[in-house]
Amino acid sequence: MCDCIFCKIAQHEIPVEPVYEDDQVIAFDDMNPQAPVHTLVVPKVHVQDITGNLEPETLVSLHKAICEVGIRKGLTQGLRVISNAGADAGQTVMHLHFHVLGGTSLGEGLLPEV
Ligand code: 5GP
Ligand code: ZN
Repeated sequence: MCDCIFCKIAQHEIPVEPVYEDDQVIAFDDMNPQAPVHTLVVPKVHVQDITGNLEPETLVSLHKAICEVGIRKGLTQGLRVISNAGADAGQTVMHLHFHVLGGTSLGEGLLPEV
C-alpha cells in the first residue's frame, strides 16, 4: 500500500473535487492557496518529481490538464506554473505536481522579494 498523499487522492482513497481528471492526471485545488486560483496538477503514476521518468503520454496529459485548469478557472489574463523538485526547491510532497497559480497579477519576479 502506497503511503503517498497524492497517490491516495489520485486513487480516490482521499476525496477531492477534481478541477480536471483523465486516466493519467488529476487536478484539484491546493488546500493552502497562495493565489486566488491555486490548483495542483498531479500525474496518477507515482513519480517523485519532474526529473523522474515519465511516459510521453503522461507528459501530454499533464500539459493538457494545465491548459484545461487555465480554461476552467477563467485565467484569461495569464497563469504561472511551478514544479518544485527536491530540498533546495522546497518540495514538501514527494509526488510530482505542478502548481497552477493565477487570478491576480503575480508580478514579474520569479521569486518573492527578499
Ligand atoms: P510543494 O511544497 O511540494 O511544491 O507543494 C505541495 C503542496 O501540496 C502545498 O502547496 C500544499 O498546500 C499542498 N497539499 C499538501 N497536502 C495536500 C492535501 O492533502 N490536499 C490538498 N488539496 N493540497 C495539499
Ligand atoms: Zn505518490
